[in-house]
Amino acid sequence: MCGIVGYVGDKDCADVLVDGLKKLEYRGYDSAGIAVFQNGEIEVEKSKGKLADLENKMKNEGKPSGHCGIGHTRWATHGEPSDINSHPHGNKRVSIVHNGIIENYKQIKDFLTGKGYVFESETDTETVAKLLDYLYDGNPIETLSKMIDKVRGSYALGILFKDYPDTIFAVRKESPLIVGLGENENFIASDVTPILKYTRKYYLLEQDEIAIIKKDSVKIVTPENEEITKEVLTADWDVDAAEKGGYAHFMLKEINEQPSKIKTTISPRIQDGMPYLEESGITMEMLKNSKRIFIVACGTAMHAGMVGKYVIESLARVEVTVDIASEFRYRNPLIEKGDLVILISQSGETADTYAALKLAKERGATTVSVVNVKGSTIAREADKVIYTHAGPEISVASTKAYSVQLSIMYLFAFELAYAKEKISKERCMELTKQLMEVPDKLAEVLELKERCQFIASRLVNAESLLYIGRGLDYALSMEGSLKLKEISYIHSESYAAGELKHGTISLVTEDMPVIAVATQSNLLEKTISNVKEVKARGAKVTVICKEGTEIGKDVANHLVTLPAMEDMLMPMLAAVPMQYIAYYTAALKGCDVDQPRNLAKSVTVE
Ligand code: GLU
Repeated sequence: MCGIVGYVGDKDCADVLVDGLKKLEYRGYDSAGIAVFQNGEIEVEKSKGKLADLENKMKNEGKPSGHCGIGHTRWATHGEPSDINSHPHGNKRVSIVHNGIIENYKQIKDFLTGKGYVFESETDTETVAKLLDYLYDGNPIETLSKMIDKVRGSYALGILFKDYPDTIFAVRKESPLIVGLGENENFIASDVTPILKYTRKYYLLEQDEIAIIKKDSVKIVTPENEEITKEVLTADWDVDAAEKGGYAHFMLKEINEQPSKIKTTISPRIQDGMPYLEESGITMEMLKNSKRIFIVACGTAMHAGMVGKYVIESLARVEVTVDIASEFRYRNPLIEKGDLVILISQSGETADTYAALKLAKERGATTVSVVNVKGSTIAREADKVIYTHAGPEISVASTKAYSVQLSIMYLFAFELAYAKEKISKERCMELTKQLMEVPDKLAEVLELKERCQFIASRLVNAESLLYIGRGLDYALSMEGSLKLKEISYIHSESYAAGELKHGTISLVTEDMPVIAVATQSNLLEKTISNVKEVKARGAKVTVICKEGTEIGKDVANHLVTLPAMEDMLMPMLAAVPMQYIAYYTAALKGCDVDQPRNLAKSVTVE
């Protein structure tokens, strides 16, 4: 959510900033701006809209020319997207870009208004800019340290002080920020994607650490101005991974990357044919002794957790509760020592999931995070972390991150079931073997793109859709429905197929297409009966099923047939036609597939 980039070096700063912000566009934003030192003065350019709008503005009004500056893409939380509300905020003495939310901004604003400050924007950020100006006494570290004391909330801040025209200052609390370490140039950024072109080395800024960044030096200090020696990290994402590589959209590229990403995620966790999560510190002993399991996540990650619940409960016979993170925190959940809380988050920065993690730890549960971004807050603060290896996911709508999360859910379920002696070693090996076959089967499923494109062409004009399924198919249809909503803006709902007749079927007409997932053999007949019920009411039905399933024309208008695997693993394959259908529907409608309106990639506000 929102992007921050800062640059100090010999290159043209404005160009590096805009280019870096482009790499962060995937995070979602509604306005952009930069502040650059030009002949010792802080020059600001900002604009509502996309980066292209900012670039146009700079073409007309002139681009600030200099070698040290900060840039921002804003995802509005306080005040509408507008030129005035865009960042940077500040004045001629101090200029800042901010990601996050200042909770006590009202108090600060009242205080500063009393001191004669006048506010231009509606943002919470401007209060910090003015507060820094008020506190500034010539010593930036002391000023920032006082600010840390006074400001509540979450922030990643890039700061310029007029008196230090060769320096970027940065500080963070809860919102992520890294410091990129180049040759005779240094950076700040919200994540590693903007720096990959220049360097792979970086520091991860921790809570309340202050970074002082010059062209040829980076110093990190505590608020008490004690220098900290930091570990230099190396980014293992490559530049290509953050480019489209010939695909029309990142989403399409990422759908197609799924076989290889699943392979990279599961291979290191399989030893002698058995799941092996020990490298993440998850021992057989720990699994054996675990009591109940809670899976807590948001959006797509929560849907991966839903599949996890079905698989874990059926194999390991352990009770699993799946919670939406923002609900979990406020429902005073009954968790205690001995419970295992699994937190799933692609970015590892999801604010609601992070808050749930803190609560689970307070209550004495063991916490395990499943996270894609190395070194992110949730990854670091959970007792154990299982990294998924999806590489950077740029499209806001998640695809590959979902399937690697699923693959971890399976491995975890297999190992837990074995640890609890609910399945034999042979069965565990057999299931693991089948999971290893998923990437090859997925390569076949990816060939179904034209079929899915055709089905999408029948959906573009729909106002509303229903996704139905039973059991694991229901868990998967939740994700299918979300994907369509997110990127095509067509309303859809997922429903447990058997529950339809208890109310929702009254919505079904010939204008409401239905997508039914029917991959579970033991539920097939029942699901097909439900499909017939909607078909009889005029709905045009697409059925996603596995090879060998007999489904007549009287049942389905369109069929998507998947290679057969053990029922339990079918969601891993069935996810792809769901993603394709959503993708092609959105693309045919001309939607901004990779950056859907109102959405942000890593949701760092609660
Ligand atoms: N809360 C700030 C604003 O609304 C920052 C939002 C962001 O993270 O982009 O301006």
